[in-house]
Amino acid sequence: MLRHLPSIDRLLGDPAWDDAPDVPHIVRKRACRAVVEQLRGDVLAKRIDALPDPSAVAASAVAHARELARPALQRVVNGTGVILHTNLGRAPLAADALAAIASVAGRYTNLEMDLVSGVRDSRHGRLIDAFARIIGCEDVVVANNNAAAVFLALCAVAAGQEVVVSRGELVEIGGSFRMPAIMEASGAQLREVGATNRTHLRDYEAALTAGARVVMKVHRSNFAQVGFTKEVSIEQLGALCAEHDALLLHDLGMGVLDRAPGVARSSGKSVESVRRSLDAGAHVVLFSGDKLLGGPQAGILAGQADVLTTIRKHPVMRLVRPGKLCLLALEATLLAWERDPTGASLPVARMLAASADDLKLVAEALAEQLRSPDLDARVVPCESTPGGGSLPGTGIPSWSVALKHSRKSDAELAAALRTHQPSVVGRIEDGLVRIDVRTLLPGDADVVVAAAAAV
Ligand SMILES: *Cc1c(COP(=O)(O)O)cnc(C)c1O
Repeated sequence: MLRHLPSIDRLLGDPAWDDAPDVPHIVRKRACRAVVEQLRGDVLAKRIDALPDPSAVAASAVAHARELARPALQRVVNGTGVILHTNLGRAPLAADALAAIASVAGRYTNLEMDLVSGVRDSRHGRLIDAFARIIGCEDVVVANNNAAAVFLALCAVAAGQEVVVSRGELVEIGGSFRMPAIMEASGAQLREVGATNRTHLRDYEAALTAGARVVMKVHRSNFAQVGFTKEVSIEQLGALCAEHDALLLHDLGMGVLDRAPGVARSSGKSVESVRRSLDAGAHVVLFSGDKLLGGPQAGILAGQADVLTTIRKHPVMRLVRPGKLCLLALEATLLAWERDPTGASLPVARMLAASADDLKLVAEALAEQLRSPDLDARVVPCESTPGGGSLPGTGIPSWSVALKHSRKSDAELAAALRTHQPSVVGRIEDGLVRIDVRTLLPGDADVVVAAAAAV
């Protein structure tokens, strides 16, 4: 039977390729080889007892080639209701940020040149001005991501010193970012204070009286503490550190500049923001560009000029500096916030603010379009979440379309939607595939309809 395997040339000459004109020859060849190898294996292992005819083999080669030619990162429709979904790339960028990238990134840019004097200049002079206007800081340093920002800050200002951290804030963020491990790698010595559930001002005070000179507060980004708990506020820490002439770093994680999103304000908890921490006396506040700020992946260090100058001069700065794509998108995102502090032009802020009543109408219209003899589509209430390590324990009332296929299981239906082009990722709950409409972007509903029709 092996003698009758179709030749690579036979497969490459098949008319099936007419449907895939964009797939390059080299990819076609790789796909044909892979498919023939697969068949050879099947024959040798006696998994098949007859060869498919050559045109069927060519059709699978074409399908495989299409798969190979596809970029690794593709568009995905987020039907999960998790707004900053880390696995789905966190924040979708604002139109302004995309426009900034599109108009400049394909050309040269004054990344490190002052155009008036013609001499070398810092990468983010203008960005510092924008941050200064919006959050009232003296200076800003931008790194690739917030984990890098935390590491950079610790290396620059805390290596060889004790850093006081509450036992309730020794977080693991995911992707193996654990505060104690980052401390150790930076050369700082972790000085834990308090208990897991309760840390008092006097706990910090004792450490400072004993000689520690750096305090770090860490936002509990992905878990909430309830019950018998006690946390020292940034205001209390600011006053204490001023008294002891100690440095106060605040790893806020989420990029809430000033005005916190309504969902956070209505939760009744006191809302943290970059401006609040700076006002409270934090020397440096660290946060992500792609959490609630809704910009590109970045880590931002905002605060006092003298401390940030030390940080900027540290050798690790060169290792974690952002590229021009990030800076272009970040500046445009900031200017969008400055123009409209409600964030109306930012997808993340819009999703957070969308009212349940409006979303119900969207869900009803979508369900109407999705319904077919094979597909039951019902509108059901659900809860969205900010996600991405921002406001843990905060649920936002929302609406979703719950789908049930007459012949497919929930897992099969979810997989069919996920592998459609573009992909649709929903959530399985109570045996139904749910699409939370809060996280749909303009044009996404049409993709969901097409994906469901193709099932
Ligand atoms: C998310 C987060 C980080 C890591 O930020 P990335 O931008 O994901 O690198 C660090 N600290 C806190 C408190 C966070 O919430």
